[in-house]
Amino acid sequence: MSAAIHQMGVAELAKALQGRKVSAVEAARHQLDRIDQHKDLGAFVAVDEELTLAQARAADEKLAAGNAPALTGVPIAHKDIFVTTGLPTSAGSRILAGYRSPFDATVVRRLAEAGAVTLGKLSCDEFAMGSSNENVAVPAVGFDKAVPVRNPWNRDRIPGGSSGGSAAAVAARLAPAATGTDTGGSIRQPASFCGVTGIKPTYGRASRYGMVAFASSLDQAGPMARSAEDCALLLSAMCGPDPDRDSTSLDRPSEDFSRHLGDSLEGLRIGVPKEFLGDGVAPGVRAVVEAALAEYEKLGARRVEITLPRTELSIPVYYIIAAAEASSNLSRFDGVKFGHRAKDYRDLADMYAKTREEGFGDEVKRRIMIGTYVLSHGYYDAYYLQAQKVRRMIADDFQQAFKQCDLIAGPAAPTVAWKLGEHGGDPVADYLADIFTLPGSLAGLPGMSIPAGFDGGMPVGLQLLGNYCEESRLLNAAHRFQQATDWHQRTPAGF
Ligand code: GLN
Repeated sequence: MSAAIHQMGVAELAKALQGRKVSAVEAARHQLDRIDQHKDLGAFVAVDEELTLAQARAADEKLAAGNAPALTGVPIAHKDIFVTTGLPTSAGSRILAGYRSPFDATVVRRLAEAGAVTLGKLSCDEFAMGSSNENVAVPAVGFDKAVPVRNPWNRDRIPGGSSGGSAAAVAARLAPAATGTDTGGSIRQPASFCGVTGIKPTYGRASRYGMVAFASSLDQAGPMARSAEDCALLLSAMCGPDPDRDSTSLDRPSEDFSRHLGDSLEGLRIGVPKEFLGDGVAPGVRAVVEAALAEYEKLGARRVEITLPRTELSIPVYYIIAAAEASSNLSRFDGVKFGHRAKDYRDLADMYAKTREEGFGDEVKRRIMIGTYVLSHGYYDAYYLQAQKVRRMIADDFQQAFKQCDLIAGPAAPTVAWKLGEHGGDPVADYLADIFTLPGSLAGLPGMSIPAGFDGGMPVGLQLLGNYCEESRLLNAAHRFQQATDWHQRTPAGF
């Protein structure tokens, strides 16, 4: 049995655990061995076998007693941006290296309450700022220095970012599922690049409590797994109001996001924004998206041409707003309350300056500088306020579009995963590649990426966007596609 454990997705494994065909300890042991065997990928930054096995033993006791919650014994791994009591949390940054939180993030707690066992913490770009996972500044498990995560489909390529460790771990079957966060695409883009399924829910669905903050008006947590069915199970556990701890969490009861899986797609109107299939999209990516749309038509959906006229503006708008919020959020890293503190300093101001100089990486410093600039007196109106106005227009464009369609589809990214180092420290090249995920983020809409084919041997994700709180409809559309195709079941060679 145990040889097949890593081939099982969340739903299948949960069933085997409930049926006592596999024990939680067996599942945990098997995945821990795989993590060790494939540590060259650099996907994990913290593992504690004793902690994982202790949780698995407790899960087995619950399973033996009967009535255990749905995910009992299912091993999952967390992006290292969620704080955890049992394992250190670095958010990919030297400034937090070795930091241990006194509490668990709400998402982590909720998954634990649903029975999940924690396999470890996953590499990510520093403070979730990045598109390639090359911005990580802390060592991966098995390394004594920071290393970029490798894409399991081709080790010379990036896995995407900022949830690159999460995507790589799921693609390589090191974990049946992982958590991720998406501020401007960090669940959807790495899911696309690694051939896995990921969903970012509507802003406010999942509590941000205990998610190290990047841009608070955009940050959302979500699951990454092999299938929409698995994502629905995990998302149901992760979401729900958290009024005492996150004032922006939506005041809506938790939902069973699996409840519409299997509904017919007959008559579903899928909007295809013309801006999402323009010249900037690689021909191989466009071909995959076109084939996926044709598949949807076979399933009964109807294609509708729509426009999202401010798509290009989403790049400057996002990189102003996200940087502004980051510059404020990151002011808490001052060497006083937690994390790294410089050793030699003259006075308090010098201590702040040296701590931040030593602790933050280049991309983080760049964003702090941009953010401070756009918020400063004299520039606030010209940049920050203007960006907020355009953000509203982008959200309104979506509402216009949703008058004509039920879902929106297009590529998650203009290309497949690029080569490690290919953007050679050119941050703008990374920023431009976010063009198709940023609009949905700015509007706060739910979005997914599902495996839809390959271009030159690398996975291509189809992005699906829904209107507010329409995660169930989105997950069902993804599920129906996955029942009709097998792209999501493809595994990279050697895994
Ligand atoms: N690539 C985007 C950025 O660097 C998105 C990151 C994210 O969603 N966390 O900001």
